[in-house]
Amino acid sequence: MANGVHFRPTRAEIDRDALHHNARIARQLAGDARLLGVIKADGYGHGVLTVAEAISEHVDAFAVAFIDEAIEIRNAGFQHPIVLLEGCFSEAELPVCAHHNFQPVVHQQQQLDAILMSRMVRPLSVWLKVDTGMHRLGWSPAEAQRVYEELKASPQVGSVTMMSHFANAEKQTHPLNDKQLELFEDVCAQTESKLDMSLATSAALLSSAIDMAQHNGHWVRTGILLYGDNPVEKAIELPEPLRPVMRLVAPVIAIRNVAKGESVGYGGTWTATRPSLIATVAIGYADGYPRHAKNGTPVWLKGHEVPLAGTVSMDMITVDITDFTDIAIGDEAELWGPNLSVGRVATHAGTISYDLLTNVTARVPRVTR
Ligand SMILES: *Cc1c(COP(=O)(O)O)cnc(C)c1O
Repeated sequence: MANGVHFRPTRAEIDRDALHHNARIARQLAGDARLLGVIKADGYGHGVLTVAEAISEHVDAFAVAFIDEAIEIRNAGFQHPIVLLEGCFSEAELPVCAHHNFQPVVHQQQQLDAILMSRMVRPLSVWLKVDTGMHRLGWSPAEAQRVYEELKASPQVGSVTMMSHFANAEKQTHPLNDKQLELFEDVCAQTESKLDMSLATSAALLSSAIDMAQHNGHWVRTGILLYGDNPVEKAIELPEPLRPVMRLVAPVIAIRNVAKGESVGYGGTWTATRPSLIATVAIGYADGYPRHAKNGTPVWLKGHEVPLAGTVSMDMITVDITDFTDIAIGDEAELWGPNLSVGRVATHAGTISYDLLTNVTARVPRVTR
């Protein structure tokens, strides 16, 4: 990795046009709502500054998990407000937030006390999190009203945006969705008629779980859809399909015959049931390819889908290419990307697209196109 030179061709190609395209679709679906581009965890593993640059013209603000992620974005020169989805860890962050227009979520009493007791030069904009059923962060619906009023009354506080988070947004028919929506609407109705609020994420937008027209002042928090994956079981029809942003690529570095009855890889989890041809590809779990990917997980190679054959190693995987004679050393496999959705690979590995995208490791160069 010295001097940015990479001899190993394994890489994650990042498609800027696809980011623009997906952000435009988010914009279209969101209607009059404002868009919060969620770019935590290094832009879901795509490289946060690349993502920020591509989506900056399409979104009204950015969101990250915590302040260190926000500072990186601000230092790179982006002027958008940045929401801190976990809020602050200590009161030392508050002046930094006020100075940089970072907008922390306030989800518990210590955070509230710190803000109310602070002496900031500029008022802080905050997001008040209500726990409507996820039971991870936030105030109960019964407490939210009091907290809202305390924040509104404080000279330290500028705007307050009411927010909550669905626990099952990717399953449209899950009964908790309606219950959470109802609780959230009740809390909002008790506070003010013209309230800034935020409930929808990518899944809610892609399933029309929330009627945006009925939620004036809504902020939609879009993460995964910007990166081109649709997490919803039965998604609505989109004006155009989303485009995967990351294409993870690695070369074939060996091809061998394996006799019937021989096993491949650590633990011999795959055994040839016929005379087989096995290709070894230079990517492994140390690159972020999931170690739990099962035998049969698809890998895209020269226009074919070939099945993973054998346990994923640290630096390599093995695939069964017996049915294809046109594959040679140096050919490049797509582990996920436009030809093979990251969601499908995730299912074979017992996980979700978010997990795979955010776990591509630092030794895989991001190549922006
Ligand atoms: C990460 C995150 C999001 C983004 O969710 P997607 O499913 O990627 O759209 C939204 N809201 C909160 C609170 C988050 O932590």
